Amino acid sequence: MPRSTKLQSASHARKKNSAPLIRCVIFDLDDTLYDCMGQRVRPAHRHAAKAVVKAGLKASVEAVYRTRMKAFRVDPILMHIDAEVARKFHAANPEVLSKIARDAYFNCPVGKLRLFSGTLPLLNMLHARGARVFVVTFGEPQIQKAKVKTLGLEKHPAIDKIFYADRDRLLTKEGAFQVIQQELDLPADQVLIVGDRAMSEIRAGNELGMHTVRIRRGEFASQYPQGKIEVADYEVRNISKVGKLPFRWGTNPKSTTETRRHGEIRK
Ligand SMILES: [Mg+2]
Repeated sequence: MPRSTKLQSASHARKKNSAPLIRCVIFDLDDTLYDCMGQRVRPAHRHAAKAVVKAGLKASVEAVYRTRMKAFRVDPILMHIDAEVARKFHAANPEVLSKIARDAYFNCPVGKLRLFSGTLPLLNMLHARGARVFVVTFGEPQIQKAKVKTLGLEKHPAIDKIFYADRDRLLTKEGAFQVIQQELDLPADQVLIVGDRAMSEIRAGNELGMHTVRIRRGEFASQYPQGKIEVADYEVRNISKVGKLPFRWGTNPKSTTETRRHGEIRK
């Protein structure tokens, strides 16, 4: 029995046919392709703490940072964390404080980041089998682009395209999933969504009738699905387990060498 847990719900009964064919995989970025929690989240909370102290909150950066991380362990949602800071340090205007903190959190400068060890082998396997690979990431597009660059994913031959969903909601994750599906002209049940957030990409994928895998780790690992619509078809602890799930990947015959094919017909 693999360590992955099958979490099948009644609403997903239609997906039950064994080993569905997957011709397109759409990945989230943060805490899916790399360890965002370890490499980004703590520095971003420190950055937010510095910003609110600089803006006049009467507290030390260290005290605000500790309050943020304590609140984070209860609920990782920024709204909750900002409210805790405002309450504890008697902020004159909690709404303004929250905006300053959120802007700083999402704009924390990007340092050197590393992919999970299982990420590139999976992307390359999918590409070799002829599956189309996309990344749809949410956040400040400029920052997300910097992450993509330092992770070496920009113009990676296994990735068709990277979409940047943004806080202004000019593009939502669900919108990006639909664009990809329409561009490829694939039925929803040949598309797989892989991500860590139940309320975000897992929900969107389920709503569109796509297959879903949740990577349960990182910043949002403690969040429980709010209803069946947020329950992924499969839950795994690490991206290296995704390729072993019972799916048929792409349309190319399985090759032991997983040689990359160039020049194939790309729709
Ligand atoms: Mg994520």
